Amino acid sequence: MNQKNILVLNCGSSSLKFAVITPHNQQVLIQGLAERLNTSQASIHYQLAEHGEKQSTQPNGSSHQGAIEAVLDILKQHGLLANLSGVGHRVVHGGEAYSESLLLNPDNIASLEKLHHLAPLHNPVNLLGIKAINTLLPNLPQVAVFDTAFHQTLPETAYLYGVPLELYQQHGVRRYGFHGTSYRYVSEKAAKLINKPLQDSHFLIAHLGNGCSACAIKHGRSVDTSMGLTPLEGLLMGTRSGDVDPGLIDFLCERLNLKLADVMAMLNKKSGLLGISGISNDMRETQLAAQQGDSRANLAVEIFAFRVARYLGALAVSLPSIDALIFTGGIGENDRLTRSLVLEHLSILGFELDGKLNQENGNATGRISLADSTLAMVVATDEELMIAMDTHALVAGLKE
Ligand code: ADP
Repeated sequence: MNQKNILVLNCGSSSLKFAVITPHNQQVLIQGLAERLNTSQASIHYQLAEHGEKQSTQPNGSSHQGAIEAVLDILKQHGLLANLSGVGHRVVHGGEAYSESLLLNPDNIASLEKLHHLAPLHNPVNLLGIKAINTLLPNLPQVAVFDTAFHQTLPETAYLYGVPLELYQQHGVRRYGFHGTSYRYVSEKAAKLINKPLQDSHFLIAHLGNGCSACAIKHGRSVDTSMGLTPLEGLLMGTRSGDVDPGLIDFLCERLNLKLADVMAMLNKKSGLLGISGISNDMRETQLAAQQGDSRANLAVEIFAFRVARYLGALAVSLPSIDALIFTGGIGENDRLTRSLVLEHLSILGFELDGKLNQENGNATGRISLADSTLAMVVATDEELMIAMDTHALVAGLKE
C-alpha cells in the first residue's frame, strides 16, 4: 500500500531543518538542513534513507522561501513530493492560546501573528515557513506544533513571576517554558520503558542540547520547567547565560556604557559555555579543551553540570516521588562526563551512577544508575517524529 508521508519543517533564523516521515511505520525517508540562509553561502545538505551518503546543493535564492523551494525540488527529484499528506511546522511560541498542536487555517494563522511579540526571534521566521508552503503547495494541510504547548499545565505558582500581577493580566508576562515537544516525546517513551501508565509517572527530565532546559513531569504533565517568558531563563546553555541577577543588565549598561540591545546580545549569544570557556559553545570542543588543560574550559564544564543539578533539585519539590531522571538532547544522550557530574551532585535524591552503563549511554534499557539507587536514564528525543505524528493525527482527523 502507498503510505502518505508528512513533511516536517523547523525554520530557525538562519537555518531550516526538514524531514519527510512516514507516520505509519515512523520511517524517516529524507532529512536535511538548509543553513546560512540570508547570506551568500546558503547551502542545503540532506540524506536519503535509501542512499545513505550526504548530498549538498545550493538554493537559488538565499531566503527561507528560496530554501523551501529548493527543498521541495529535492523532494520532487526523489519522488517524495506527490505523496505528502500534510506539513508539520515547529512553532516556538503558542502563548496561552495553544495547549495542543493546531490544524492551520487563514484565521488561526492570522492569530498566530499576534504572538510575534512573545518570541520576536523565532515566531516570525516559523510563520515564514507556513506562508511559503501556503503559496507553493496551497492544497496541502498544515499543522503548527508549539514548543510551549506541553507546559500549559504549569500551575500559577510555577508560571508567575514576582512582578506586578497586572503585567501578566495585561501583557502575558509569565513563564511559558520551551522544548515541550521533546518533553512530551521523552516522557511517553520513558513511561513505556519503565512499564508504567504515563498518567501515573513522575519524571525529572534534562533536555541538554545547544539550548538547555529541565522539566518536572507529574502524572505525565509538565508542572515546572526552567525556561521562562523566553528561552534565556534557567540553565547555562551553549551561548545563553541562563539565570542571572536581573540587576546585572542595568549594571552592565552603566558600567560598560552598553546599550540594552548589546547586553541582551551578550546574554543570548556570547555567554554560557562560550562565555565562560572563551573557546566554544559546543560541549565536545569545550571538553576537549578542558582535557588539554584549559582551566576556563574546565570551569565551563563544571558550572554547566552544577547548574543542571541545582535546577533538577529545585524541580524535584514539585513531584510526589521520582520514577526516573531522564537525560536527553545532544549532551544528555551522549555526554558521559556531564551525566556523571550531575548525578554526583544529586546523591541527596538517591542517585548513584553505574559507571559501565553510563559509558554505554544507557545501553538498551536506558538505565545509567545502580540498580538499588533512584533510576536515572538516557532517552533519545525525536521532536521531528512527534511533529510528524501530531500532523498526521490532525490531518487524518484522528484528533480534534
Ligand atoms: P540542538 O539544540 O541544536 O538540537 P543538539 O541536541 O544536537 O543541539 O546538541 C548539541 C550539543 O550536544 C553540542 O554542545 C554538542 O557538543 C553536544 N554533543 C553531541 N555529542 C556529544 C558527545 N559525544 N559528547 C559531548 N557532547 C556532545
